[in-house]
Amino acid sequence: MTRYQGVPLLDLKAQYATIRAEIHDAINRVVESQHFILGPEVEALERSIALYSGCEHGIGVSSGTDAILASLMALDVGVGDEVITTPYTFLATVMSIARLGARAVLVDIDPLTYNIDASKVEGAITNRTKAIMPVHLYGQMADMQVLVQVAGNSAIPIIEDAAQAIGAEHFGRRAGSIGSLGCLSFFPSKNLGALGDAGMVLTNDAKVAERLRLIRNQGQKPKYYSVEVGGNFRLDAIQAAVLSAKLTHLDEWTTARQRNAGQYRKLFVEAGLRVSSGVLDADSEIALPAEMDRCRHVYNQFVIRVRERDALQNFLSDRRIGSEVYYPHPMHLQRTFVAWGYRKGAFPHSELAAEQSLAIPIYPELEPAMLETVVGAIRDFLRVK
Ligand SMILES: *Cc1c(COP(=O)(O)O)cnc(C)c1O
Repeated sequence: MTRYQGVPLLDLKAQYATIRAEIHDAINRVVESQHFILGPEVEALERSIALYSGCEHGIGVSSGTDAILASLMALDVGVGDEVITTPYTFLATVMSIARLGARAVLVDIDPLTYNIDASKVEGAITNRTKAIMPVHLYGQMADMQVLVQVAGNSAIPIIEDAAQAIGAEHFGRRAGSIGSLGCLSFFPSKNLGALGDAGMVLTNDAKVAERLRLIRNQGQKPKYYSVEVGGNFRLDAIQAAVLSAKLTHLDEWTTARQRNAGQYRKLFVEAGLRVSSGVLDADSEIALPAEMDRCRHVYNQFVIRVRERDALQNFLSDRRIGSEVYYPHPMHLQRTFVAWGYRKGAFPHSELAAEQSLAIPIYPELEPAMLETVVGAIRDFLRVK
Protein backbone atom coordinates (compact mmCIF):
# COMPACT_ATOMS: atom_id res chain seq x y z
CA MET A 1 0.00 0.00 0.00
CA THR A 2 1.21 3.49 -0.89
CA ARG A 3 2.15 5.57 2.12
CA TYR A 4 0.81 9.10 2.07
CA GLN A 5 2.15 12.18 3.75
CA GLY A 6 -1.23 12.57 5.34
CA VAL A 7 -4.56 13.27 3.64
CA PRO A 8 -5.86 16.85 3.39
CA LEU A 9 -9.54 17.65 3.96
CA LEU A 10 -9.60 19.22 0.50
CA ASP A 11 -6.97 19.45 -2.23
CA LEU A 12 -7.87 22.15 -4.73
CA LYS A 13 -4.46 21.85 -6.41
CA ALA A 14 -5.24 18.24 -7.36
CA GLN A 15 -8.38 19.37 -9.17
CA TYR A 16 -6.70 22.35 -10.79
CA ALA A 17 -4.01 20.06 -12.21
CA THR A 18 -6.67 18.18 -14.20
CA ILE A 19 -8.26 21.29 -15.80
CA ARG A 20 -5.40 23.77 -15.95
CA ALA A 21 -5.66 24.53 -19.68
CA GLU A 22 -9.44 25.02 -19.57
CA ILE A 23 -9.15 27.44 -16.66
CA HIS A 24 -6.45 29.44 -18.39
CA ASP A 25 -8.45 29.57 -21.64
CA ALA A 26 -11.45 30.91 -19.72
CA ILE A 27 -9.42 33.57 -17.95
CA ASN A 28 -7.65 34.60 -21.13
CA ARG A 29 -10.96 34.95 -22.97
CA VAL A 30 -12.17 37.48 -20.41
CA VAL A 31 -8.88 39.33 -20.22
CA GLU A 32 -8.80 39.66 -24.01
CA SER A 33 -12.39 40.96 -24.00
CA GLN A 34 -11.65 43.44 -21.16
CA HIS A 35 -15.29 42.99 -20.10
CA PHE A 36 -14.98 42.23 -16.41
CA ILE A 37 -18.34 42.73 -14.72
CA LEU A 38 -21.65 41.06 -15.69
CA GLY A 39 -21.99 40.80 -19.52
CA PRO A 40 -22.03 37.79 -21.82
CA GLU A 41 -19.91 35.41 -19.70
CA VAL A 42 -22.18 35.96 -16.70
CA GLU A 43 -25.31 35.57 -18.83
CA ALA A 44 -23.99 32.31 -20.29
CA LEU A 45 -23.29 30.93 -16.82
CA GLU A 46 -26.73 32.03 -15.59
CA ARG A 47 -28.36 30.07 -18.40
CA SER A 48 -26.30 26.94 -17.92
CA ILE A 49 -26.62 26.83 -14.11
CA ALA A 50 -30.38 27.42 -14.36
CA LEU A 51 -30.61 24.59 -16.90
CA TYR A 52 -28.42 22.33 -14.75
CA SER A 53 -30.61 23.03 -11.71
CA GLY A 54 -33.91 22.63 -13.56
CA CYS A 55 -34.92 26.22 -12.99
CA GLU A 56 -36.01 29.09 -15.27
CA HIS A 57 -33.75 31.94 -14.19
CA GLY A 58 -30.29 32.36 -12.70
CA ILE A 59 -29.01 35.67 -11.38
CA GLY A 60 -25.26 35.72 -10.87
CA VAL A 61 -24.12 37.47 -7.69
CA SER A 62 -20.96 38.15 -5.74
CA SER A 63 -21.23 35.32 -3.17
CA GLY A 64 -23.57 32.80 -1.58
CA THR A 65 -24.07 35.23 1.28
CA ASP A 66 -25.13 37.96 -1.15
CA ALA A 67 -27.45 35.48 -2.88
CA ILE A 68 -29.22 34.99 0.47
CA LEU A 69 -29.24 38.70 1.32
CA ALA A 70 -30.55 39.71 -2.12
CA SER A 71 -33.22 36.97 -1.94
CA LEU A 72 -34.46 38.25 1.41
CA MET A 73 -34.47 41.80 0.00
CA ALA A 74 -36.48 40.62 -3.01
CA LEU A 75 -39.11 39.34 -0.56
CA ASP A 76 -39.10 42.71 1.28
CA VAL A 77 -37.93 41.12 4.53
CA GLY A 78 -37.24 43.84 7.06
CA VAL A 79 -37.61 45.08 10.63
CA GLY A 80 -40.21 43.15 12.60
CA ASP A 81 -40.36 40.24 10.17
CA GLU A 82 -39.54 36.64 10.98
CA VAL A 83 -37.75 34.04 8.88
CA ILE A 84 -37.86 30.40 9.93
CA THR A 85 -34.57 28.56 9.60
CA THR A 86 -32.20 26.12 11.28
CA PRO A 87 -29.72 26.74 14.10
CA TYR A 88 -27.33 24.20 12.59
CA THR A 89 -25.87 26.06 9.61
CA PHE A 90 -23.11 28.40 8.53
CA LEU A 91 -23.34 31.95 9.95
CA ALA A 92 -24.29 33.48 6.59
CA THR A 93 -27.80 31.99 6.63
CA VAL A 94 -28.86 33.57 9.89
CA MET A 95 -26.64 36.67 9.63
CA SER A 96 -28.38 37.75 6.42
CA ILE A 97 -31.71 37.75 8.27
CA ALA A 98 -30.18 39.80 11.09
CA ARG A 99 -28.63 42.32 8.68
CA LEU A 100 -32.11 43.28 7.48
CA GLY A 101 -33.37 43.82 11.02
CA ALA A 102 -35.53 40.72 10.88
CA ARG A 103 -35.56 37.89 13.38
CA ALA A 104 -34.59 34.27 12.76
CA VAL A 105 -37.11 31.87 14.26
CA LEU A 106 -35.10 28.70 14.72
CA VAL A 107 -36.38 25.14 14.42
CA ASP A 108 -34.21 22.21 15.51
CA ILE A 109 -32.78 19.71 13.05
CA ASP A 110 -33.74 16.16 12.24
CA PRO A 111 -30.73 14.43 13.84
CA LEU A 112 -30.56 11.86 11.02
CA THR A 113 -29.91 14.41 8.27
CA TYR A 114 -28.78 17.56 10.15
CA ASN A 115 -31.43 19.43 8.12
CA ILE A 116 -34.33 21.43 9.56
CA ASP A 117 -37.03 19.13 10.97
CA ALA A 118 -39.79 19.88 8.48
CA SER A 119 -42.45 18.42 10.78
CA LYS A 120 -41.77 21.18 13.35
CA VAL A 121 -41.92 24.12 10.95
CA GLU A 122 -45.68 24.60 10.95
CA GLY A 123 -45.65 25.22 14.70
CA ALA A 124 -43.14 28.06 14.24
CA ILE A 125 -45.26 30.06 11.76
CA THR A 126 -46.75 33.34 13.00
CA ASN A 127 -48.39 36.25 11.20
CA ARG A 128 -44.92 37.84 10.98
CA THR A 129 -43.35 34.93 9.11
CA LYS A 130 -42.01 36.32 5.81
CA ALA A 131 -40.09 33.29 4.59
CA ILE A 132 -38.94 29.76 5.40
CA MET A 133 -35.26 29.12 4.72
CA PRO A 134 -34.20 25.46 4.79
CA VAL A 135 -30.48 24.73 4.38
CA HIS A 136 -29.49 21.65 2.36
CA LEU A 137 -26.59 20.77 4.61
CA TYR A 138 -23.55 18.80 3.43
CA GLY A 139 -25.14 18.20 0.02
CA GLN A 140 -28.41 16.48 0.96
CA MET A 141 -31.70 18.31 0.65
CA ALA A 142 -34.11 19.07 3.47
CA ASP A 143 -37.55 17.46 3.25
CA MET A 144 -38.90 19.81 0.58
CA GLN A 145 -42.11 17.87 0.08
CA VAL A 146 -43.28 18.58 3.61
CA LEU A 147 -41.89 22.13 3.57
CA VAL A 148 -43.64 23.00 0.30
CA GLN A 149 -46.92 21.77 1.72
CA VAL A 150 -46.56 23.62 5.03
CA ALA A 151 -45.41 26.84 3.32
CA GLY A 152 -48.13 26.54 0.68
CA ASN A 153 -50.85 26.25 3.30
CA SER A 154 -49.84 29.65 4.67
CA ALA A 155 -48.68 31.15 1.32
CA ILE A 156 -45.19 31.74 2.70
CA PRO A 157 -42.28 31.73 0.23
CA ILE A 158 -39.36 29.34 0.67
CA ILE A 159 -35.76 30.41 0.14
CA GLU A 160 -33.51 27.39 -0.25
CA ASP A 161 -29.98 27.84 1.07
CA ALA A 162 -28.47 25.45 -1.46
CA ALA A 163 -24.91 26.72 -0.99
CA GLN A 164 -23.66 23.18 -0.30
CA ALA A 165 -26.02 21.35 -2.60
CA ILE A 166 -25.73 22.26 -6.29
CA GLY A 167 -27.13 19.31 -8.26
CA ALA A 168 -28.62 17.57 -5.22
CA GLU A 169 -32.10 16.13 -5.79
CA HIS A 170 -35.20 15.48 -3.75
CA PHE A 171 -37.78 13.31 -5.52
CA GLY A 172 -36.18 14.17 -8.86
CA ARG A 173 -36.09 17.94 -8.40
CA ARG A 174 -32.86 19.82 -7.94
CA ALA A 175 -31.65 21.99 -5.09
CA GLY A 176 -32.65 25.62 -5.47
CA SER A 177 -35.41 24.97 -8.02
CA ILE A 178 -38.29 24.10 -5.68
CA GLY A 179 -38.66 27.13 -3.42
CA SER A 180 -39.53 30.65 -4.58
CA LEU A 181 -35.80 31.33 -4.52
CA GLY A 182 -32.68 29.18 -4.33
CA CYS A 183 -29.22 30.36 -3.31
CA LEU A 184 -25.98 28.84 -4.58
CA SER A 185 -22.44 29.54 -3.47
CA PHE A 186 -19.36 29.08 -5.63
CA PHE A 187 -16.94 29.56 -2.74
CA PRO A 188 -13.80 27.58 -3.68
CA SER A 189 -14.56 24.69 -1.30
CA LYS A 190 -18.11 24.13 -2.60
CA ASN A 191 -18.74 21.38 -5.16
CA LEU A 192 -18.56 23.94 -7.96
CA GLY A 193 -15.95 26.45 -6.80
CA ALA A 194 -14.78 29.69 -8.38
CA LEU A 195 -11.33 31.24 -8.08
CA GLY A 196 -12.71 33.52 -5.40
CA ASP A 197 -16.15 34.54 -4.18
CA ALA A 198 -19.20 34.04 -6.37
CA GLY A 199 -22.83 32.96 -6.05
CA MET A 200 -26.18 32.72 -7.81
CA VAL A 201 -29.88 33.07 -7.10
CA LEU A 202 -32.29 30.70 -8.85
CA THR A 203 -35.98 31.37 -9.39
CA ASN A 204 -38.84 30.32 -11.65
CA ASP A 205 -40.54 33.72 -11.30
CA ALA A 206 -39.63 36.15 -14.10
CA LYS A 207 -40.69 39.20 -12.09
CA VAL A 208 -38.60 38.20 -9.09
CA ALA A 209 -35.67 37.53 -11.43
CA GLU A 210 -35.95 41.03 -12.88
CA ARG A 211 -36.11 42.53 -9.41
CA LEU A 212 -33.01 40.60 -8.35
CA ARG A 213 -31.13 41.96 -11.36
CA LEU A 214 -31.95 45.45 -10.09
CA ILE A 215 -31.06 44.68 -6.48
CA ARG A 216 -27.67 43.21 -7.39
CA ASN A 217 -26.75 46.37 -9.30
CA GLN A 218 -27.54 49.27 -6.92
CA GLY A 219 -31.28 49.21 -7.64
CA GLN A 220 -30.80 51.53 -10.61
CA LYS A 221 -32.99 51.62 -13.71
CA PRO A 222 -31.99 53.16 -15.99
CA LYS A 223 -28.42 53.76 -14.91
CA TYR A 224 -28.11 56.47 -12.23
CA TYR A 225 -31.87 56.51 -11.52
CA SER A 226 -32.67 54.71 -8.29
CA VAL A 227 -35.86 52.67 -8.12
CA GLU A 228 -35.13 50.70 -4.97
CA VAL A 229 -32.52 49.85 -2.36
CA GLY A 230 -29.91 47.54 -3.82
CA GLY A 231 -26.21 46.95 -3.53
CA ASN A 232 -23.16 45.88 -5.45
CA PHE A 233 -23.83 42.14 -5.58
CA ARG A 234 -22.50 41.69 -9.12
CA LEU A 235 -20.68 38.64 -10.41
CA ASP A 236 -17.31 39.04 -12.16
CA ALA A 237 -16.94 37.78 -15.73
CA ILE A 238 -13.68 35.96 -14.90
CA GLN A 239 -15.43 33.93 -12.21
CA ALA A 240 -18.33 33.20 -14.56
CA ALA A 241 -16.02 32.02 -17.35
CA VAL A 242 -14.08 29.76 -14.97
CA LEU A 243 -17.30 28.37 -13.51
CA SER A 244 -18.66 27.61 -17.00
CA ALA A 245 -15.52 25.60 -17.72
CA LYS A 246 -15.74 23.76 -14.40
CA LEU A 247 -19.48 23.07 -14.73
CA THR A 248 -18.76 20.62 -17.57
CA HIS A 249 -16.92 18.46 -14.99
CA LEU A 250 -19.36 18.77 -12.10
CA ASP A 251 -21.17 15.48 -12.70
CA GLU A 252 -17.90 13.49 -12.88
CA TRP A 253 -16.81 15.12 -9.63
CA THR A 254 -20.13 14.39 -7.96
CA THR A 255 -19.92 10.75 -9.05
CA ALA A 256 -16.42 10.55 -7.56
CA ARG A 257 -17.67 12.04 -4.26
CA GLN A 258 -20.49 9.48 -4.18
CA ARG A 259 -18.04 6.68 -4.98
CA ASN A 260 -15.81 7.81 -2.11
CA ALA A 261 -18.81 7.86 0.22
CA GLY A 262 -19.72 4.32 -0.80
CA GLN A 263 -16.13 3.23 -0.31
CA TYR A 264 -16.04 4.72 3.20
CA ARG A 265 -19.19 2.80 4.12
CA LYS A 266 -17.59 -0.44 2.96
CA LEU A 267 -14.23 0.24 4.60
CA PHE A 268 -15.62 1.21 8.02
CA VAL A 269 -17.56 -2.06 8.18
CA GLU A 270 -14.57 -4.07 6.93
CA ALA A 271 -12.47 -2.41 9.64
CA GLY A 272 -14.73 -4.13 12.17
CA LEU A 273 -16.25 -0.95 13.58
CA ARG A 274 -19.79 -0.87 14.94
CA VAL A 275 -21.46 1.47 12.49
CA SER A 276 -24.87 3.15 12.64
CA SER A 277 -26.68 5.45 10.23
CA GLY A 278 -27.12 9.17 10.95
CA VAL A 279 -27.04 9.08 14.75
CA LEU A 280 -25.07 7.14 17.31
CA ASP A 281 -27.01 4.49 19.19
CA ALA A 282 -26.17 2.43 22.26
CA ASP A 283 -24.30 -0.18 20.20
CA SER A 284 -22.51 1.95 17.62
CA GLU A 285 -19.17 3.69 17.90
CA ILE A 286 -19.38 5.68 14.67
CA ALA A 287 -22.37 7.02 12.73
CA LEU A 288 -22.12 7.49 8.97
CA PRO A 289 -24.29 9.89 6.92
CA ALA A 290 -27.86 8.68 6.41
CA GLU A 291 -28.89 8.85 2.77
CA MET A 292 -32.58 9.60 2.59
CA ASP A 293 -34.99 7.93 0.23
CA ARG A 294 -35.15 9.30 -3.33
CA CYS A 295 -32.44 11.84 -2.72
CA ARG A 296 -29.33 12.57 -4.76
CA HIS A 297 -26.75 13.37 -2.09
CA VAL A 298 -23.86 15.31 -3.65
CA TYR A 299 -21.54 14.99 -0.62
CA ASN A 300 -20.10 18.45 -0.28
CA GLN A 301 -19.10 16.99 3.07
CA PHE A 302 -18.96 13.46 4.48
CA VAL A 303 -19.82 13.94 8.14
CA ILE A 304 -19.42 11.22 10.74
CA ARG A 305 -20.39 11.24 14.40
CA VAL A 306 -18.26 9.90 17.23
CA ARG A 307 -18.48 10.36 21.01
CA GLU A 308 -14.98 11.75 21.59
CA ARG A 309 -14.93 14.00 18.58
CA ASP A 310 -12.32 16.54 19.69
CA ALA A 311 -9.91 13.78 20.70
CA LEU A 312 -10.42 12.10 17.32
CA GLN A 313 -9.77 15.35 15.51
CA ASN A 314 -6.49 15.80 17.40
CA PHE A 315 -5.53 12.19 16.70
CA LEU A 316 -6.18 12.66 12.97
CA SER A 317 -4.31 15.92 12.98
CA ASP A 318 -1.25 14.15 14.48
CA ARG A 319 -1.41 11.77 11.52
CA ARG A 320 -1.76 14.72 9.18
CA ILE A 321 -5.31 13.82 8.20
CA GLY A 322 -7.54 16.82 7.65
CA SER A 323 -10.97 17.13 9.25
CA GLU A 324 -13.29 19.95 10.24
CA VAL A 325 -16.26 20.59 12.50
CA TYR A 326 -19.23 21.99 10.58
CA TYR A 327 -20.35 23.60 12.88
CA PRO A 328 -19.09 23.82 16.45
CA HIS A 329 -21.42 26.57 17.69
CA PRO A 330 -25.12 26.56 16.72
CA MET A 331 -26.77 29.85 15.81
CA HIS A 332 -28.92 30.16 18.94
CA LEU A 333 -25.76 30.21 21.07
CA GLN A 334 -23.94 32.90 19.06
CA ARG A 335 -23.21 36.10 20.95
CA THR A 336 -24.39 38.24 18.03
CA PHE A 337 -27.91 36.87 18.30
CA VAL A 338 -28.44 37.04 22.11
CA ALA A 339 -31.18 39.63 21.69
CA TRP A 340 -33.39 36.89 20.22
CA GLY A 341 -33.41 35.30 23.67
CA TYR A 342 -32.48 31.71 22.85
CA ARG A 343 -30.84 29.63 25.59
CA LYS A 344 -28.59 26.61 25.78
CA GLY A 345 -30.75 23.50 25.66
CA ALA A 346 -33.29 25.05 23.29
CA PHE A 347 -32.22 22.86 20.33
CA PRO A 348 -30.78 19.63 21.73
CA HIS A 349 -30.32 17.89 18.35
CA SER A 350 -28.27 20.79 17.01
CA GLU A 351 -26.23 21.02 20.20
CA LEU A 352 -25.44 17.29 20.16
CA ALA A 353 -24.50 17.43 16.46
CA ALA A 354 -22.15 20.32 17.24
CA GLU A 355 -20.41 18.08 19.81
CA GLN A 356 -20.23 14.88 17.75
CA SER A 357 -19.96 15.71 14.06
CA LEU A 358 -16.73 15.65 12.10
CA ALA A 359 -16.20 16.09 8.35
CA ILE A 360 -13.52 13.84 6.86
CA PRO A 361 -11.96 14.08 3.37
CA ILE A 362 -14.42 13.34 0.53
CA TYR A 363 -13.08 15.42 -2.38
CA PRO A 364 -13.23 13.81 -5.85
CA GLU A 365 -9.49 13.35 -6.41
CA LEU A 366 -8.95 11.20 -3.29
CA GLU A 367 -7.22 7.96 -4.16
CA PRO A 368 -8.39 4.58 -2.79
CA ALA A 369 -5.32 4.24 -0.55
CA MET A 370 -6.05 7.64 0.96
CA LEU A 371 -9.54 6.51 1.96
CA GLU A 372 -7.96 3.44 3.56
CA THR A 373 -5.53 5.66 5.43
CA VAL A 374 -8.38 7.76 6.85
CA VAL A 375 -10.42 4.73 7.87
CA GLY A 376 -7.36 3.01 9.36
CA ALA A 377 -6.60 6.05 11.50
CA ILE A 378 -10.17 6.30 12.78
CA ARG A 379 -10.16 2.58 13.55
CA ASP A 380 -6.89 2.96 15.46
CA PHE A 381 -8.37 5.81 17.49
CA LEU A 382 -11.55 3.93 18.36
CA ARG A 383 -9.69 0.69 19.14
CA VAL A 384 -6.46 1.79 20.82
CA LYS A 385 -7.43 5.06 22.48
C1 LIG B 1 -20.91 28.60 1.99
C2 LIG B 1 -22.24 28.82 2.58
C3 LIG B 1 -22.89 30.06 2.54
C4 LIG B 1 -22.22 31.32 2.08
O1 LIG B 1 -21.64 31.29 0.85
P1 LIG B 1 -20.42 32.29 0.51
O2 LIG B 1 -20.27 32.11 -0.96
O3 LIG B 1 -19.24 31.82 1.30
O4 LIG B 1 -20.84 33.67 0.89
C5 LIG B 1 -24.19 30.14 3.01
N1 LIG B 1 -24.81 29.07 3.53
C6 LIG B 1 -24.21 27.88 3.62
C7 LIG B 1 -24.97 26.73 4.19
C8 LIG B 1 -22.90 27.71 3.17
O5 LIG B 1 -22.32 26.51 3.27
